[in-house]
Amino acid sequence: MEVEGDLEAGLDELRATYSTGKTKEAAWRRSQLRGLLTLLEEKEGDIFKALKQDLGKHPVEAYRDEIGTLVKSVNYALGNLKKWMASKKAELPIAAFPSTAEILPEPLGLVLIISSWNFPFGLSLEPFIGAIAAGNVVVLKPSELAPACSSVLAKAVHAYLDNKAVKVIEGGISVSEKLLQQKWDKIFFTGLDVFICSAKVGRVVMTAAAKHLTPVTLELGGKCPAVVDSLFNTRYKQVVIKRILAGKFGTCAGQACIGIDYILAETKYTSTLVEQLKVWIKKMFGENPKESNSIARIVSKQHFLRLKNLLDDPMVKASIVHGGSFDEDNLFIEPTILVDPPLEAEIMTEEIFGPLLPIITLENIEDSIQFIKSRPKALTIYAFSNNERFKRRMISETSSGCVTFNDTIIQYAADTLPFGGVGESGFGRYHGKFSFEAFSHEKAVLRRSFLTDFWFRYPPWNDHKLQL
Ligand code: NAD
Repeated sequence: MEVEGDLEAGLDELRATYSTGKTKEAAWRRSQLRGLLTLLEEKEGDIFKALKQDLGKHPVEAYRDEIGTLVKSVNYALGNLKKWMASKKAELPIAAFPSTAEILPEPLGLVLIISSWNFPFGLSLEPFIGAIAAGNVVVLKPSELAPACSSVLAKAVHAYLDNKAVKVIEGGISVSEKLLQQKWDKIFFTGLDVFICSAKVGRVVMTAAAKHLTPVTLELGGKCPAVVDSLFNTRYKQVVIKRILAGKFGTCAGQACIGIDYILAETKYTSTLVEQLKVWIKKMFGENPKESNSIARIVSKQHFLRLKNLLDDPMVKASIVHGGSFDEDNLFIEPTILVDPPLEAEIMTEEIFGPLLPIITLENIEDSIQFIKSRPKALTIYAFSNNERFKRRMISETSSGCVTFNDTIIQYAADTLPFGGVGESGFGRYHGKFSFEAFSHEKAVLRRSFLTDFWFRYPPWNDHKLQL
């Protein structure tokens, strides 16, 4: 949909549809979810092509992280919709006797989803599933930085779903700004809050929302640490190393909000850890990773240069122990490992969001807890350890959106877990039922009987009532 001329008309159409009540019906919600399934099935080829074009994603990675995950999520929503939509009985205090009460989820109305480029389908459609399952009318604004994906999304959503109730509006920052000036019943934003031109878009979104008191979910980013203790040096060595690499270079080349940003490891194990990482980088991406189609490309020249600049600092450059080569024409950056770059360098103060992996060494792995606590709250903390006491400390002494032990990324696919940040990594949560709740209002309904009535609850007040 073009935004200039017909934005108002488009939003009016959506509001009119909402006011008919049709999106509240279970049958409509189901039909849209089924439409989404058909879209994912029939447009699979176009989706693969667009992801290759915008991000150099291999179809296997694209299926694992986007199509497959979405199909699972839609099926989960379809399987649970009845339960989610059902009202829940609530207990009441004796003073209300006799009466009954229930909590009834109702849609919010007209909702806006602004999404990011790194998982252009996943990050657009995952919240979208929640929005339509909850019975809302929706505007989706995909990222302009993945234009082929944005175009496929716009065409496919309009072809497979109810155009009077869901619209995709394509465009860049100016379109986003125009959309944010409108009055919404909910804004769901995935994107950055810090880095790159110091744009703090999370704050831009909240400021716009404040004008209309619109509730907001902010899915932001940050630096996700991976703590690796001696576990990697045991019989689990291979799987630990593979999971670390998958959580960095194997997921959109590190351009993932829950990708590993840096590793914390004990000094005495560092050289073995680096050797193992090098061995497996070769196994996963070959002798010449530039030729590999198993590692995604950097999304844009601007992001490529940002990453390249992170290594410009001579102290950072000197800390490279593997990789460090770039190919600007192909927006390729070699999987790169650094050991102990300066902590005050940008690579350790900003979210990296690319295939550069610093390892910070510590004398004792327990020191990782203080290291993490002294920094902004992460979206995810990863820890590879079988030390139960250490794991309990990590859970209770740190704060983050999520903690995942002995694996990476996998938590994203768990419909039963809330996904979202805390502190600077964002707020609000979604996935599975949490997505439904993110786009619903839980209405309290109380039905009172006339059977009993207490005279002392009514004025006039007097001492006799006080003594009761
Ligand atoms: P992006 O550049 O695609 O921006 C996201 C969206 O915001 C786009 O639709 C864009 O048009 C819009 N936008 C950008 N600047 C704007 C402005 N000034 N005003 C209004 N709208 C604006 O993506 P990005 O922000 O580079 O995404 C990467 C960031 O997102 C990282 O920080 C990453 O950690 C975070 N992220 C978080 C999650 C999550 O689920 N928490 C997922 C993916 C990415």
